[in-house]
Amino acid sequence: MSKEIQLTDRINRIVASPALAVAAEAEKFRQSGADVVDFSIGEPDFPTPDHIKQAAIEAIQSNKTKYTAAAGVAPLRQAIVKWHAAQFGTAYEPAECVATTGGKHALFHTICCLIAAGDEVLIPAPYWVSFPDMVKYAGGTPVIIETRAAENFALTAAQVEAAITERTRLIIVNSPNNPTGAVIPRAEYERILDVCRRHNVMLMADECYSHFVYDSEPFSVAGAADAKPHVIVAGSCSKTFSMTGWRLGYALAPKPLADGIAKLQSQSVSNPTSISQYAALGALSGPMDTVGTMLAEYRRRRDRIVAGVRALPGVTCTEPQGAFYVFPNFEARLADRSVRNTTELARLLLEREHIAAVPGEAFGAPGHLRFSYATSMDRIEEGLRRLARFFAANAERKAGSAS
Ligand code: PLP
Repeated sequence: MSKEIQLTDRINRIVASPALAVAAEAEKFRQSGADVVDFSIGEPDFPTPDHIKQAAIEAIQSNKTKYTAAAGVAPLRQAIVKWHAAQFGTAYEPAECVATTGGKHALFHTICCLIAAGDEVLIPAPYWVSFPDMVKYAGGTPVIIETRAAENFALTAAQVEAAITERTRLIIVNSPNNPTGAVIPRAEYERILDVCRRHNVMLMADECYSHFVYDSEPFSVAGAADAKPHVIVAGSCSKTFSMTGWRLGYALAPKPLADGIAKLQSQSVSNPTSISQYAALGALSGPMDTVGTMLAEYRRRRDRIVAGVRALPGVTCTEPQGAFYVFPNFEARLADRSVRNTTELARLLLEREHIAAVPGEAFGAPGHLRFSYATSMDRIEEGLRRLARFFAANAERKAGSAS
């Protein structure tokens, strides 16, 4: 008889990423022959630019295929700080930079280095699915700050001030935001930093979508005066350079923390993949025109999908100012109770119309669904047609059951 496997508390405290779970469900439908319109996955549908692929091919051919320093190869760390300085006016040293296995690992390792049992971490909601679970895994307590649709879901300094207690150690700010597309205006972001500085709370800026902003310029709070001792930047090549599969991100942090992250890396993954490091070097020291091309296309899609979901009776939707997600509110559609919540709505949409979207419950915002528009305009049109058909059929079903 096999012995029952006991998992630790820390692994039982977390759940598998709900966004990946929806994507896996969608895949099952696809495997059984369904034509799924997949709005679930937060992944650019553009190929990795050729000059980046070429940098990786050259790395392979010149045998740069061995272990590297835990924090990444020196030329990459130099390129990261140089790129960040050029883009945002920051002044990091390579010793304050660690290349990581995706932005996710920069976030995870930072939390593991900073957070212990009893520590509180402020997380504005709607939040990216992984933030609370990373904090729980480290033994900390996520403290959720609700942002408001009426304020375009942008976090304010007053909200942060009100949420801080003597146990608060860290706040995780993701602007542009996944799932809402909210962008915190620069002046307000700097006020948030001031609050953190006054209360000795570290601010982790998740800059994964930094370059996908529609109405403002890319901006990093780490570029503000006297920001560096209080800020950790978690950055990523995944979205900016359409490199999700390469798994290359970075942390910029005060040196003792950067050293802690590198130490943890040395005892876990050793180093990010050497070939991906050289690909990222090609990305960060090469042309940025593909970013502008993607942004222009995302803007076209955003305008179409926002108009499309707003045309559904009873559905409201804030206009995303960045990233590539819309986060409409379906509460009025749920009021008749024929569908109990957005988890059920997402399931019905997948079963009946083969539309994959992630329920708001995953982001701490029930009543919403997240649609990624990192998919072609044709698929967006098809998805909108199916959504309209679903809600029309649902209204008929309801009318039928009422008569
Ligand atoms: N942060 C946010 C808000 C994200 O949406 C994602 C990915 O979807 C990440 C971080 C991590 O991206 P990666 O690990 O691919 O760099």
